Amino acid sequence: MNIHEYQAKEVLARYGVPVPQGIPCDTPAQCRQAFSDLGGGLAVVKAQIHAGGRGKAGGVKLVRSAEEAEKVAQDLIGKTLVTPQTGPEGRVVRKLYVTQGADIAREMYLAVAMDRTARAPVVIAAAEGGVDIEQLAHDKPEALLRVAVHPVKGILPNQIRRICFHLGLKGNEMKSGAKVLQGLMDAFMATDASLAEINPLITTKGGDVMALDAKFSFDDNALFRHKDIAAYRDINEEDPKEVEAKKFDLNYIALSGNIGCMVNGAGLAMATMDVIQQKGGSPANFLDVGGGANKQQVTNAFKILLSDANVKGILVNIFGGIMKCDTIAEGVIAAAREVKLSVPLVVRLEGTNVDLGRKLLQESKLDLQTAVSLDEAAEKIVKAAGAHR
Ligand code: GDP
Ligand code: MG
Repeated sequence: MNIHEYQAKEVLARYGVPVPQGIPCDTPAQCRQAFSDLGGGLAVVKAQIHAGGRGKAGGVKLVRSAEEAEKVAQDLIGKTLVTPQTGPEGRVVRKLYVTQGADIAREMYLAVAMDRTARAPVVIAAAEGGVDIEQLAHDKPEALLRVAVHPVKGILPNQIRRICFHLGLKGNEMKSGAKVLQGLMDAFMATDASLAEINPLITTKGGDVMALDAKFSFDDNALFRHKDIAAYRDINEEDPKEVEAKKFDLNYIALSGNIGCMVNGAGLAMATMDVIQQKGGSPANFLDVGGGANKQQVTNAFKILLSDANVKGILVNIFGGIMKCDTIAEGVIAAAREVKLSVPLVVRLEGTNVDLGRKLLQESKLDLQTAVSLDEAAEKIVKAAGAHR
């Protein structure tokens, strides 16, 4: 799960990382008030969407008066921001964050990410941060220092010194930097984050070190033990089909293709998507209906697949293990009748009682095709979806 910048800064502040004061707002009038409440002078109005690259897309604006804050907010609220991280469809801005403007001396980059290869959290640091960090990582990868941190012992004093030195911190900044790094690391570990990023981390002309932007991603499987973090969830930022799928315990990820896939088991789902692609088609989603794919699960899954206007055909590929193929076939038939299928359907079953399952499908008189192998199933659905208008 991802969260907004203003929430990420709340988390950081709880762990002792200095952040500029700020007020989350829903309306231009609130932004106007926020400007005054923050003490006037320089403030920043920032679009809150679950994607970075806002600065370059016009989603981060420096303002010098309450009127200006209100005006900028009017322009931003309801606007669709397109950044390199949103995809071409962009994200609608529903919330803004007004923060005290900082007097930046230097922008740096500091992050912690779970690194599967290192089997440990890895701190990533660069002395040149800000909006061009991706370019820097591409052009000058050696500018990014990576330090693996022991998951139990935590970050060691010598690692902290090495990282702060790499960031180019000097004198008193070194001490503030060490505090930021320790705080970031503590926040990352305590919240079961998979990514915690500060970009930019800045030094101010007054010698302070603080987080001007923040991003967190959390491990969904650990959210049950972080009720405070789970409460940060903003379903406006999620695909409505994915939100619906979560309610029914379906593992669903929306994609941009036109063949809806209903599969049991993540591995089989991945293989099914690969074979569809290989046959010249393009999957509309990843969907794992789980081991106990009963009629209810299959019905819900059909409804979610059909709510995607891009779907021009559905491929059901289910392995009957715990659940026997005849039970699955009954489920598919009942579900297909209930949802009144409007696109071609190909069903491939394999496993226990497969002959009985196939017989049930053939006798159902439903307008569906069956297939024995995955190759055959993928070929059939790619052809049918291509012909469907
Ligand atoms: P992002 O583009 O989505 O990563 O948004 P950021 O919050 O990182 O802001 C982008 C850029 O705006 C930063 O790298 C800064 O250069 C600038 N910026 C943001 N906040 C301030 C501020 O308080 N003062 C000044 N001078 N610049 C800021
Ligand atoms: Mg940023």
